[in-house]
Amino acid sequence: MDLFSLTVNELSGLLAKGETTSRAVTESVLERIKAVDSKVRAYITVTGNAALAQADRADRDRKAGTASPVLGIPVAIKDNMCTAGVRTTCASKILGNFVPPYDATVVGRLVQAGTVMPGKVNMDEFAMGSSTENSGFFATKNPWDLERIPGGSSGGSAAAVAAGECIAALGSDTGGSIRQPAACCGIVGLKPTYGRVSRFGLVAFASSLDQIGPLTKDVTDSAIMMNAIAGHDPKDSTSADVPVPDFRSSLVKDVKGMKVGIPKEYFIEGMDPEVDKAVRDAVRTLEGLGAKVVDVTLPHTGYAVATYYILATSEASSNLARYDGVKYGFRAEGAKDLLDQYMKSRSQGFGPEVKRRIMLGTYALSAGYYEAYYKKGQQVRTLIKRDFDEAFKTVDVIATPTAPTAAFRIGEKSSDPLQMYLSDIFTISVNLAGIPGISIPCGFTKGNLPIGLQLLGRHFDEASVLRAAFAYEQATDWHKKRPKIS
Ligand code: GLN
Repeated sequence: MDLFSLTVNELSGLLAKGETTSRAVTESVLERIKAVDSKVRAYITVTGNAALAQADRADRDRKAGTASPVLGIPVAIKDNMCTAGVRTTCASKILGNFVPPYDATVVGRLVQAGTVMPGKVNMDEFAMGSSTENSGFFATKNPWDLERIPGGSSGGSAAAVAAGECIAALGSDTGGSIRQPAACCGIVGLKPTYGRVSRFGLVAFASSLDQIGPLTKDVTDSAIMMNAIAGHDPKDSTSADVPVPDFRSSLVKDVKGMKVGIPKEYFIEGMDPEVDKAVRDAVRTLEGLGAKVVDVTLPHTGYAVATYYILATSEASSNLARYDGVKYGFRAEGAKDLLDQYMKSRSQGFGPEVKRRIMLGTYALSAGYYEAYYKKGQQVRTLIKRDFDEAFKTVDVIATPTAPTAAFRIGEKSSDPLQMYLSDIFTISVNLAGIPGISIPCGFTKGNLPIGLQLLGRHFDEASVLRAAFAYEQATDWHKKRPKIS
C-alpha cells in the first residue's frame, strides 16, 4: 500500500490503531516527492529532515497519549504563509531570501495539532494568477497532464495533493485560487467564509478578499482540516469572533429537503460543453438524493470580474508598497539614492503580472479617478453581495461550475491577461460577497481532465456546503481517481 495515496482520515485511522507511524507516512511522501516532483514541480522548498523530525515527535506524542485527527499528517503549505525559520517567498524574487521569524496563525495551529510540514509549495507570484505560470521561479504542471496548468494561484498546493506529494495542503483564495486549482487537479478545495480562518502571517494580496483554506483529496479531509485551522484570532482584526462548529458533524449523507439554487448567469455561452454537462449531471445527482433544485438569479454577475480587478489591484497596490528594498527581502545593487533604490529593487524584484496589477491599482486609487473606479467598484460589490443575500432567502446552497473549462495548456493564455482573468468568472463573486465555496470533482472531459462542481453557502454556513458536497461525493467515485504521472 502506498501511504502517500491515502487520505488524512484513512491515515489517522491507521495511526490511531498503531498500524503505521508518522515516520513511515512522511518517508512515503518524501520519496514520492523525490520520484515525481522533477516532473510536477509543486515544491519551492522541501524540508526533508525537519519533516522527519516532526514526524518522530508526532510518533512520540502519540505514544504519550496525545491524539488529534491530524497528528503526524504531512500537510504542504502554500509559500505565502509565514513559517518560522523556513523561507517564505510568495514565489517572488523580491521575497526570495525572506525567512520569517514567526509562524502564520494557521501554521501555528497545525504545529500545535502535530502535523508535519514536508515543504512550501509553488504559486503565482503574490497569488496573482490562475495557472501558477506567474511564479517568479518556475511553472507547476498538472499531474493529470504535464503539458497543462494545475490552475492557480494555489497550483502547487493542488498539484501536490493530486500527485500524492503531501496528504493535504493549505492554499489561499482571493478570487478563486483554492477552488479553481482544486477543479483543475481533481481534488477538493474549500474557501471558507471571509473571517472564518485567521490570515495573520498570510502575505497580503487583497485584504478584503483573501482567505485561507484546505485543499484535500475528499470532503471528509476538508472538514478535518477546517476543524484544525478555523476560529477567531485576536491577531487578525478581520477574523470573526463567532462560534466554530465541528465541521465533521455536517458530513451526513443526506440532502433531503435541501434547496439547491441554479443561477442562470453561471451557465453561459463560451463555456466548455463537457463542463456544462458534467455540472448539470451533478445537479441531477443531488436532486436524485432528495434535494430540491430551484432556479435563482444573480443579476450582477456580469460585473464581477471588472469589479474584482479594480478592488483587488487597488488593495494590492497598497499592500505591496512595503516591498521597497529596505524592510524585506531583495535589495538591488548600485542605487544612487533612496528613490533609485526603491525603483531598482521593485523593478528587478517584481515579475510582470505583479507590476501590471500595481499599475492598475495605483491608477484606480489616484486622485481624480478614485470616485470613478474604486468607489464605484465598492458600490457594485455591494450589489453583488445583495444578489447572494436575495438568493439565499430561498435556497440553502448554490451549485455552479467552478471554472468555464478544464485545465488549459501551459502558455495558452499567458500572452492574454484578459483571457486569463476570465478563468475566474465563476469564483470571483464569491470572494466579493465573502461567502464560503467548495469545489469538488464531478467528472472528466474526454481528454481525461478533471471537472469541478462549485457549491456556495450563506456566510458562516460551511456546514451546508460540506453536507451537500459530502452527499454528492458519497454517491459518486470521481474523488477516488488518481492521476498516473508518466
Ligand atoms: N486568479 C485571480 C487573480 O489573479 C485570483 C487569484 C487568487 O485567488 N489569489 O487575481
